[in-house]
Amino acid sequence: METPYMLEDGYRIDLPKLAVGTHHFRTTLEAPFFALFPDSPVHKGNVQVDLRVQRSPTQADIRLTLEGVMVLECDRCFRAYEYALQTEQRLIYDQDSSLKELDDSQTEVFHLPAGTRFIELKQDLYDFVVLALPYRRLPADCPGPACPPQVLRILEQTDDEPTTDAPAATEDDALLDPRWSALAALQKKLPHSDN
Ligand SMILES: [Zn+2]
Repeated sequence: METPYMLEDGYRIDLPKLAVGTHHFRTTLEAPFFALFPDSPVHKGNVQVDLRVQRSPTQADIRLTLEGVMVLECDRCFRAYEYALQTEQRLIYDQDSSLKELDDSQTEVFHLPAGTRFIELKQDLYDFVVLALPYRRLPADCPGPACPPQVLRILEQTDDEPTTDAPAATEDDALLDPRWSALAALQKKLPHSDN
């Protein structure tokens, strides 16, 4: 088994160093990588990137496999959870600017001007991770909603601070966990200042 090389400076390929043939690289995407993108919806994780580069005199054909976990926030309870991510992508850089896009959503074709030194992969790696994230972030083991703020207020409340504007817990919330129903019932029993 050949040992893959680390990518140049983490996330780029130094083309003049690549002889014609196949090359194997790897890199790891963790918090410092995602910190390079201020608008990133994700910040923590560990994604291993494996790259196979087929170099010809006029082309670099890069096949990437990204595999690892990203830390996401549950849409319902806001707890952090680990999402297993796996995606395969392909980037073709070619000196022939007329090369057509392949009929394949996993492959992107770019023009490679003659004399180009570096292929910078930072943005592509970031895009691949973000595109591989689920639209709905709800792990199967979600324990239910976090204690709603209005319930926390009731639990912390003293008699001289009756609840005023707290909206009632919805039926949907109450169905998720019997403890919330109990708290919602407690909330209904409390006097309201506007009564
Ligand atoms: Zn959850």
